[in-house]
Amino acid sequence: MPGRHFLHIPGPTNVPERIQRAMMRSVEDHRGANFPALSKGLLSDLRSVFRTEAGQVFIFPSSGSGAWEASLQNTLAPGDRVLVSRFGTFSHLWADMCQRLELNVTVLDAEWGEGAPVERYAEVLRADTDKAIKAVLVCHNETATGVTSDVAGIRRALDDADHPALLYVDGVSSIASIDFRMDEWGVDLAVTGSQKGLMMPPGLGIVAVSPRALAARERAGLRRCYFDFDDMIRMNADGWFPYTPATGLLYGLREALDMLDEEGMDNVAARHHRLAEGVRRGVKAWGLELCARAPQWESDTVSAIVVPEGHDAAKVIDIAYGRYNLALGAGLMQLAGRVFRIGHLGDLNELMCLAALSGSEMAMRDAGIPVVLGSGVAAAQAWYSGTAASANSSDEAPRKVA
Ligand code: PLP
Repeated sequence: MPGRHFLHIPGPTNVPERIQRAMMRSVEDHRGANFPALSKGLLSDLRSVFRTEAGQVFIFPSSGSGAWEASLQNTLAPGDRVLVSRFGTFSHLWADMCQRLELNVTVLDAEWGEGAPVERYAEVLRADTDKAIKAVLVCHNETATGVTSDVAGIRRALDDADHPALLYVDGVSSIASIDFRMDEWGVDLAVTGSQKGLMMPPGLGIVAVSPRALAARERAGLRRCYFDFDDMIRMNADGWFPYTPATGLLYGLREALDMLDEEGMDNVAARHHRLAEGVRRGVKAWGLELCARAPQWESDTVSAIVVPEGHDAAKVIDIAYGRYNLALGAGLMQLAGRVFRIGHLGDLNELMCLAALSGSEMAMRDAGIPVVLGSGVAAAQAWYSGTAASANSSDEAPRKVA
């Protein structure tokens, strides 16, 4: 199909040309003399993305799920009690991984469209007077439903109960895009992947680990090998990896970290919020609802849009892809056919969001959903143009037109 492809799934996200170019290089010796300078810089600079000074970062050649597994295997023993909430596909899958690793899992189910039930975490933690719970897990941004949860609230629940359990956060679709504060929120293990806010292709699983979580290795009896932190700690100390690292991706990561640093993490979060708000205004103008049930949970990286009763969201996605070269995210599990998702994270600006809204409008119309063409685009345009001057500090004085 001629013209460019519009990738608007909630990850993998668009890889900026700067990063593509950085990865286009001859393969080099990962045991060569130059390599440690690259890896040591990455392991150190990634801490500012997680907003941690005390935490230690590990980079695995895996996807985000590998980093999930690493976080559990290195800190827990078989049969350890784990508290986790489930309100979408990814929180479901992390809980499922805990069960398959033979942990003793207490699941707090919430409605899909709601965030992590902070008050119910608090109740369970208060009731656990002999402190049997070793791990508290939360998915910061549930990508299936477009819902962001209150991680700081879960930390408060732990502190109020004076509970020593470690706090594990899935930040795969939040870290490097939505505000995330590992040290301030007392997060012990924060997990992400390369293919979302970091604007990279898939292939790296990244986890930041607090000193307390590192110490938990001593009693962590779960079997581990490929994901063993001990091997990483030993080799990373001198800038090496215990096995062949994804060298090309690491050069891309170097460029991604430079780009994030140039923009500044606060500005990155503010940009995501503003772009997301435009998409939300577009959805409202269509007369449609988000899957997120209250504004407090609306995600700044992905919007899951509920199609009207009697319509099939999968048809919208197929038409958008086949006719308009636009990739939208599908509804997953119980949301299959009920929602389509617009990912608005990573290397993104206003016009890219408008293209996603425009293509979605046409695809919905073609699928028989009665939206007014241009309505969502116009609402988003009004928001973007009204807020652009204050958001884009690089605005120049208006040029004279001859
Ligand atoms: N957690 C969340 C919130 C996700 O969105 C995803 C993937 O989209 C994952 C975990 C799993 O990550 P991966 O597919 O990189 O293994």
